[in-house]
Amino acid sequence: MAQTELGPDAEVLSPERGGRPHVSLVVPVYNEQATITEVYRRSAEALAADGRAYEIIFVDDGSKDGTWAALEAIHRDDPTVRAVRFKRNFGQHPAMHAGIVRARGEVVVTMDADLQNSPADILALVRAVDTGHDVASGRRREREDGLRRRLPSKLVNRMLRSFTGSDISDFGCAFNAYRRDVLLPMAGSIGKQKFTKALVLSTGASVVEVDIDHQAREGRSRYTWPGLIRVALHVIAGFWPQPIQWAGMAIGVTASFLASVAGIWGIVAWIVRNDFPGQLFLAALVLAILGIQGLIFALVGEYLGRLQRDVEGRPLYTVASDLDRRREPDAD
Ligand code: UDP
Ligand code: MG
Repeated sequence: MAQTELGPDAEVLSPERGGRPHVSLVVPVYNEQATITEVYRRSAEALAADGRAYEIIFVDDGSKDGTWAALEAIHRDDPTVRAVRFKRNFGQHPAMHAGIVRARGEVVVTMDADLQNSPADILALVRAVDTGHDVASGRRREREDGLRRRLPSKLVNRMLRSFTGSDISDFGCAFNAYRRDVLLPMAGSIGKQKFTKALVLSTGASVVEVDIDHQAREGRSRYTWPGLIRVALHVIAGFWPQPIQWAGMAIGVTASFLASVAGIWGIVAWIVRNDFPGQLFLAALVLAILGIQGLIFALVGEYLGRLQRDVEGRPLYTVASDLDRRREPDAD
């Protein structure tokens, strides 16, 4: 297998069907030696209670503490555990990608390793997918955080609700379950941005929200105002196909219209007063150039939208059902 797995070329696309576990639990891990063994123990306990086959995939994102040694020990004692180690720290979302592309289960659950999530909730998410939903979205119960923490989540959730057309309340929660089929179309994009759940929901996957336990994080929130602006830009670039196109069109159309008004006004004034209105014509010229630039901007936006779609291999469409008598077993 390639050393850099940035494309959808990994095992998740393999046609192998036999011996698949029902659930794959994917856990990105970075410097979590304090909690990792407990995360494993409680996850295995929850999954075993279900009675169906499962696998746990830990992805060590270049930890510098004893995390990898702990994962090696866990792997040695339990054949259902797979442990992957990055050569250095690449980030939570690339680690998530590495886990998802290795998952063989019909249901893929993603969870953090810091015990802010409670592994006991895994089965509630799995059962929600079992009952026919494509995605079970973890919803953290209302937290007692200050405005500084709540406002950014509100803004991000509102943007993602409108960009994905999916009416859920907690896009930031990483504890979710997915039917494997809905992950496949987005395999090339997962990990390249922070909101995997939003990506999957933007394909039209059905979703149900499941309330989960959530422990407050140790220490302060990492949100800062500049950080919030970066998250907002990240969401816009990832989920709004051509914002540059909209801005370009708005500037292009407005400036072109104003240029025409100024130009016509100038010609009329010239004829009526028999005096060349240099300032008006200059204004018309500047506005006309701005208008052309706006329209070029809109064109650039169109190119960028197409490039993003093709580079990330985003699907042109997703099919809900395809009724075809010739493919049904009893039709001959
Ligand atoms: N994580 C990771 N790589 C990183 C940072 C975090 O794999 O560079 C893991 C971390 O071990 C945890 C999950 O990603 O399992 C979420 O991280 P964290 O709790 O720091 O994020 P938050 O809860 O603030 O979203
Ligand atoms: Mg956390």
